Amino acid sequence: MTPTAFAPRIEQNQHARSEPERAAILENPGFGNHFTDHMFLAEWTPDHGWHDARVVPYGPLSLDPATAVLHYAQEIFEGLKAYGHADGSVWLFRPDANGERLQRSAHRLALPELPLEWFLGSVRALIETDRAWVPRGEEKSLYLRPFMFASEAFLGVRPSQHVTYSVIASPAGAYFTGGIKPVSIWLSEQYSRAGAGGTGAAKCGGNYAASLLPQQEAAAEGCAQVAFLDAVEHRWVEELGGMNLYFVQADGSIVTPELSGSILEGVTRDSILRLAAELGHQVVERKVSIDEWREGAADGTITEVFACGTAAVVTPVGTLKWRGGEVTAGDGGLGKVTAEIRQALVDIQYGRAEDRFGWMTRV
Ligand code: PMP
Repeated sequence: MTPTAFAPRIEQNQHARSEPERAAILENPGFGNHFTDHMFLAEWTPDHGWHDARVVPYGPLSLDPATAVLHYAQEIFEGLKAYGHADGSVWLFRPDANGERLQRSAHRLALPELPLEWFLGSVRALIETDRAWVPRGEEKSLYLRPFMFASEAFLGVRPSQHVTYSVIASPAGAYFTGGIKPVSIWLSEQYSRAGAGGTGAAKCGGNYAASLLPQQEAAAEGCAQVAFLDAVEHRWVEELGGMNLYFVQADGSIVTPELSGSILEGVTRDSILRLAAELGHQVVERKVSIDEWREGAADGTITEVFACGTAAVVTPVGTLKWRGGEVTAGDGGLGKVTAEIRQALVDIQYGRAEDRFGWMTRV
């Protein structure tokens, strides 16, 4: 079916928050607490394809109790940010990469593919309507959450014949206030996040539901994040619950676990592959065993470990803990290479450095 041309209708929110209310939120937004005045919605059915694109006042969705997503979790999502530059302009970082990943996730979850024009158009339409909600200032951003779910009221187990796509937006503060702090990591030896042939490479809600119990275990051990191993040998390092991993070697090269089919292909991970090479580092994608991490951090072969993702950009990993032991790479603080890569990336995102990779899209 030829996709319908993207032409959203816009319904202004008559109860939008006042300027002082918005300013108070943007002053200290935190993460994921506050939402802008509008949201984007569109529908899909087999007969009409994608249709009814609209920007409407932000508010609750009314769902039939039999709505398929509530039972079988046929749902996918994305996460990307809009950055306010010093001259007042607003920019997205590699939105095409998120749109393409949403298409790959859709394929795995038997959901309809959203045309890239619709993905980019939906994000743009929402930002244009809620432009005043893009926070200004050091490392603040507007976090965008596109998501798609099975909205047919039907209890049979088969792909939904009605699908809803939405985008909501949430102002986000600097992830680190008062300096960049390393995260401590709990090694999950009992639970896996994703298996071969499973949904690990897709950004679907179920993967995150499965990570919550190990995440609780991590919190009980005083750790902020969980590191997951492969589900077959319990030997190969995959990623954290919401971030990819990089290891800086004593010889200056940097290594990231290769894409296994059960790791999420992070946009930040991919960007660092190119950025680090430009900065003169040898960058390698290969398997990294948990023994290599433990022994390398202990004997100094690994000098820094960092995690990366849209939310925190680049975060130093302090201590790795497991049942019966722990190890810290380097001095556990913000290492030189980690800091260099982080700075190079945020400088591009905030328009302080030239966009030599063509990553930024103006809204
Ligand atoms: N892995 C997982 C499991 C994630 O949820 C995320 C966040 N989307 C990432 C890695 C990092 O991906 P990105 O750089 O695209 O944010």
